[in-house]
This record gives sequence, structure tokens and C-alpha cells, in this order.
Amino acid sequence: MLWSGWGDPAKAVDLPDPVRKLLHELLGVREPAAPAATFGEVRLPASALPPSVLSALAGVVGAPHVRSDDDARIRHTRGKSTPDLLLMRAGDGSDAPDAVVLPGSHEEVAEVLRLCAAHRVAVVPFGGGTSVVGGLVASRRGFSGVVALDLARLNRLVSVDRVSMVAELEPGLRAPQAEQLLTGHGLTLGHFPQSFEYATLGGFAAARSSGQASAGYGRFDDMVVGMTVATPRGTLDLGRAPKSAAGPDLRQVILGSEGAFGVITSLRLRVREAPAVRVHEGWRFDGFAAGVDAVRRLAQEGPPPTVLRLSDEAETMVGLARPTELGGGLSSDSGCLVVAGYEGGPGDVAHRRDRAAAVLAAAGGVFLGPEPGESWAHGRYSAPYLRDALLAAGATVETLETACFWSGLPRLYDAVRLALAGALGSPLVMCHVSHVYATGASLYFTVVTAQTGDPLGQWAAAKRAATEAIVRAGGTVSHHHGVGRDHRPAYALEIGELGGEILRGIKERLDPAGILNPGVLIP
Ligand SMILES: Cc1cc2nc3c(=O)[nH]c(=O)nc-3n(C[C@H](O)[C@H](O)[C@H](O)COP(=O)(O)OP(=O)(O)OC[C@H]3O[C@@H](n4cnc5c(N)ncnc54)[C@H](O)[C@@H]3O)c2cc1C
Repeated sequence: MLWSGWGDPAKAVDLPDPVRKLLHELLGVREPAAPAATFGEVRLPASALPPSVLSALAGVVGAPHVRSDDDARIRHTRGKSTPDLLLMRAGDGSDAPDAVVLPGSHEEVAEVLRLCAAHRVAVVPFGGGTSVVGGLVASRRGFSGVVALDLARLNRLVSVDRVSMVAELEPGLRAPQAEQLLTGHGLTLGHFPQSFEYATLGGFAAARSSGQASAGYGRFDDMVVGMTVATPRGTLDLGRAPKSAAGPDLRQVILGSEGAFGVITSLRLRVREAPAVRVHEGWRFDGFAAGVDAVRRLAQEGPPPTVLRLSDEAETMVGLARPTELGGGLSSDSGCLVVAGYEGGPGDVAHRRDRAAAVLAAAGGVFLGPEPGESWAHGRYSAPYLRDALLAAGATVETLETACFWSGLPRLYDAVRLALAGALGSPLVMCHVSHVYATGASLYFTVVTAQTGDPLGQWAAAKRAATEAIVRAGGTVSHHHGVGRDHRPAYALEIGELGGEILRGIKERLDPAGILNPGVLIP
């Protein structure tokens, strides 16, 4: 993973001159005054951990698995939000952990937690490092140091129960590794977020992730039937049956807990047969309101496609123009694109496709054939690479997401766009309905604007305005990115004082020394 950007450096893209020209003409984007810092220019504070603690950690996990070199520390600094990338590009390594610890088993994780509690060392569970909400930056106050607990060595497919269609997998598996292991058994998880190439199963569970095929496979938290969690107070083994009436479901306490309650060391996940057929198609709607009505009907009347997303006019226009090319320029009469994808056996795909086609056509959709759908599927993991190129060219580009019930969706959509325009002047704001349910949906916004001399302050103001608008319009502060540090104040409002007290109570019981991800999630 590129330390100051996204992904495989070999896949980096450059912006062709016509695109740069268009960015300048439309948004006033100019080259940044200073080039990005090189790896050697990153300013790192000296590691604060006493040698005695480092050697005690090495005694638990083995010396090669405790690293305090610059390379390991820089690569475990923060996550991959745009502010995170801007800080790294500015050479700011101030949030680096003092050391990176790589445990090889549940027992080693438990022992590391015991040791860190005894020495008052904060522990940040680290999966793929793709958090976009500040979920990987621990507060140092009151601690003698911070370690990143990288779960990469917990990377096995432990077992497959074909009768129950449940697989036990370890949390450090990155999504492609997990899919590859399951493919060997003719199975799939069906979890394909845009961060697919790097994010891990543990991170998906800890942040309640949702993938692009959620209409068919569900969110990641829907897939978790059981888990093992190491806490400073001992081990939790959760999930004896798919559903249970034996009290509140404690799995739900850990899902979304973002490393603040414990470290997930094993996951029992519902799996599906690997699909024999994958088809993606496009539909055109005249406007966003008509498109929203159509995808709502499809979500409510079912059976839904596996992938269902609706881009608004701005996103459709830019997407059809292909942002890395823009050969044909921008056309304002593109309408709104629905991508409907179907995965499964041939009979099932044919049935759901016919049904969806009937609903979409009845709602005013025009069938565009496979090209727009397959083109979306082909480029589905490329946008983060484009973000790096845009940042380098002097544009600020960031995303934010929320969700609400269908009846409130138009108001939420307008409120967020208005807030972003108010904060940023005349940015390009694009949106899509990204995940649908019978009762509501998620809205995912992408914002592009010219960088000011203070891009961090610029985005902080825009994000604050958008978050306030979300709260006022009745949306949730996050549908799938989580809370982290960034959403903590708004999350406190969302769950209220009593909700915050409950979370603090659980935290005190499981982690009395407060070493787990301090400053993240808990109001
Ligand atoms: C370009 C890009 C695209 C993205 N697209 C999507 C998307 O489509 N859908 C989506 O849902 N999200 C998306 N995200 C957000 C991110 O990928 C998800 O939040 C993902 O779940 C994080 O997984 P990770 O393994 O990288 O976790 P990390 O970023 O390493 O950690 C996330 C949080 O979980 C905690 N954690 C990690 N592992 C464990 C564990 N084993 N036990 C306990 N706590 C743990 C961490 O301490 C942290 O608080 C995207 C991010 C980027 C940068």
C-alpha cells in the first residue's frame, strides 16, 4: 500500500492535460505550491516506548514481530481519508505509533493486551489501515506509548461447515485473500467494498462495513454469525446459533466497536455458493427523483438485484465521461444511471433480472444494455487511485455517506448538497444511492473542489457543515464508514447522553485501563 496515498503504486494514474484544463476552468484548480513530501522527509517523533516494554512485547510475539523502524511506523500512521493523505503528503508523521506489534494467535493478542494494560500502553487494532473516519489514531493522554496491533498474521481459513454454510476465518485476512481461500471451496462472502483490495475481515466487522453488492449479499454485519474477541478482561465467544432469544445479542456490541472493546481474533461468517453468472446492466432515468422512486420500489417489492445503485445527474455525467479521459467532455443530458447487477445460478439470475426489468421499466427506466454496468464493474476499485491524482493536481476530493428512511431521502439529499455548496463555494458534488433496504437507503457523496492554501481547514469546515446538515435532516452520521474520531461528537448527539453512558459502562467493564483505541468511538 502506498504510504501517502492509495493502493498499489504500480496502478497509479495520471491526469491527462484536457482533464487538468477542465478542472481549472470549472473549479479553479491550480497546482499546489509545494510538492508532496517524500518518504524520507516525513517528520516522525522519537518512539516513546521504553526498551523494557519493547522486549517484553518481543517475548510474547517474537522479536521479528515487534517493529519500531520508521518504515513500519509510517505505514501504520492514520488511515486513508483525504485529511489523512493530506497530512502524509505534508510530511506530518506526528500520529505514528511508537511500535507495530504483529501477534500470531488469539493467545498472543490476549497476552499483549495484558502486558499493555500493565504498562499503560494504548493499543490500536490495525487491519488494512483503510479507515476513513480517524479510527486508527489513539489519544496519547495518560499513556506511556501507543502500539499498532497489526492482525496481518491472523490470516487463516480455519474451517468450512458446508452444511450450515458457515466459514471460520481469521480477521487479518484481506478481502481478496479471503475470497481466494473460499473460492477453493466453491464459496464466496460476497463482500466487495471499494476498499476491497486492502481492507480486512476484522476491519469490516469492527466498522460495520457495507459492500457494493449489499442488495444481494447484505452488509458485513449481516454475515457475522459468531466471533471470538480478546479483551483485557478475558475472552468473549459469541454466537451459538444464527438467531437466539437468549437475551440481548452481544455480537451486536462488538460489531461496530472499532477496536474500543476488544480485538476480534476469529469470525464465523455466513457464506454463499460462488456465483456461476455475473451480469451488470445500466438503466437511464430522466432525473434523480424518478430514479429514487424506481430503486425504492425494487427494494420493497423484490427480489432485489445483487448490486443496485443510482447515480444522480452530476455523478452520471462525470462517470459517463470517464474522469481519466474526458475525451468527449461533459454532457448535461445524461440523466441518472442505475447499475443493476445480478449474481447467482443461471435460473435465479434470469428470474431476478426479469423481475427487476419489469419494475424499472414500469417506473420510467430506459434499458441501456450491459455496457454501462460492465464498465462500472470493471472500474469499481479505481476511484481511490484517481483521488491521489486529483490531490496531486491541486483538487480536494473526499467522500461522505449517510442513510435515512425513504420518506426523508429527498430532504437529506438537498440538505447535504446545500451545506457543501455553502461551505466550499461552487464545488462539484456528486451523489449516488449506494445501499438499499425495504425501508430506506444510503446516500454517498463525492466532493471535488479547488484546494485552498489550507486544504485541511477547508475540508474540516465543509465536513462540519455537511454533518450538521445530516443531523438536522434526520440522517445517521454513518451508514458504513463508522464513527472513529471524526464522527464522535455527532455520534454522541445521535445516541444521546444515556446511550453514551451505556457505551462508557461497557468500555469500563471490558477495558478498565482504557488502553483500547482511546479517543475513538466512545463519546
Ligand atoms: C478508498 C476507500 C474506499 C472505501 N470503500 C468502502 C466501502 O465501499 N464500504 C465500506 O464499508 N467502507 C469503505 N471504506 C472504509 C474502510 O475500508 C472500511 O471501514 C473497512 O471496514 C476498514 O477495514 P480495515 O481492515 O482497513 O480496518 P482498519 O482501517 O485497519 O480499522 C478500522 C477500525 O477497526 C478497528 N479494527 C481493525 N481490525 C480489528 C480487529 N480485528 N478487532 C477489533 N478492531 C479492529 C481499528 O482499530 C479501526 O478503529 C473505504 C475506505 C477507503 C480508503
